[in-house]
Amino acid sequence: MGNQKGKIIILSGPSGVGKGSVNRELEKDKSLHLKYSVSMTTRAQRPGEVEGVNYFFVDRDTFEDAIQHGELVEYAEFIGNYYGTPRKFINEEIANGKNVILEIEVKGATQVLNRENPKSLVSIFLMPPSLAKLEERLRLRGTEGDDVIKQRLDKALIEIPLKHKYKYVIENDSVENAVAKIKDVLLKEGTLDLSAKESYFYKTRTQVEKIIKSRYAFIINNWRQNVLDIEGKITVPDDFDFTTYLVDLLSNRIYHYVLANGPINELDDEDFVKGILEHFMLDVDFFSIEQRNFENDEKQ
Ligand code: 5GP
Repeated sequence: MGNQKGKIIILSGPSGVGKGSVNRELEKDKSLHLKYSVSMTTRAQRPGEVEGVNYFFVDRDTFEDAIQHGELVEYAEFIGNYYGTPRKFINEEIANGKNVILEIEVKGATQVLNRENPKSLVSIFLMPPSLAKLEERLRLRGTEGDDVIKQRLDKALIEIPLKHKYKYVIENDSVENAVAKIKDVLLKEGTLDLSAKESYFYKTRTQVEKIIKSRYAFIINNWRQNVLDIEGKITVPDDFDFTTYLVDLLSNRIYHYVLANGPINELDDEDFVKGILEHFMLDVDFFSIEQRNFENDEKQ
């Protein structure tokens, strides 16, 4: 990787969504070369947890001291305890070109999202398949009574709308599917040793380009004239590459749809891609595309 800096990978989502299980599975795959940030917490050590491996267990005074001295990248209070990410480890690993994964709740994650340069982040929000499933998981854990489960479910309702702040929303319908999607996102983001071109995103993009050129050439060739006929004028520059714009837009929509709704290998199925491409294609607002692009061009 040379002098290239590593990235911060945020893995967040509501309590009970399964961040821990997904993270443990990612940790098993040594080929990912991920570094795991060990958080500081005031919560009591659970049996089996190891100091410096699961957490750095500290008292409130020590934690508040760390806040005062700016030693934490982010911190939050969660059900009566502090949790925070030490800055030193992340800074050192990132400077060495390593990617560091933070498994944190949404309040702390939002602080990182608001502060860090989006280019140095890969942000992932794990979604439960449904609220009923989330409730089922919280009940299966068997660690909380009805009242606490109700509180956590209520809390999930105010945590889930924060998903729009993240670059990737991934459904955790099964650990296996969620992990496969996360690995693909890391590949796409260029954080793994393999070429990003190997990711489902780029494979889908190649397919989308082929379909657009063969099936939708009519729209591409007549879009400009159509806007002119309807609006009486066209403001988009002559060299605007409409085909590339459309291919990128649709590839992204399809990829994000699958991350949020289905197993990633659905993208291997050509008929599936064709079907969903048609759905998104017929939903494109050609008039606002034209305006949005012109505004962007003007700002540059
Ligand atoms: P637990 O007590 O179950 O280990 O963790 C409670 C919640 O705190 C989980 O959602 C976990 O992801 C989150 N968490 C763990 N470490 C940190 C951290 O350093 N910062 C923040 N903001 N949340 C954390």
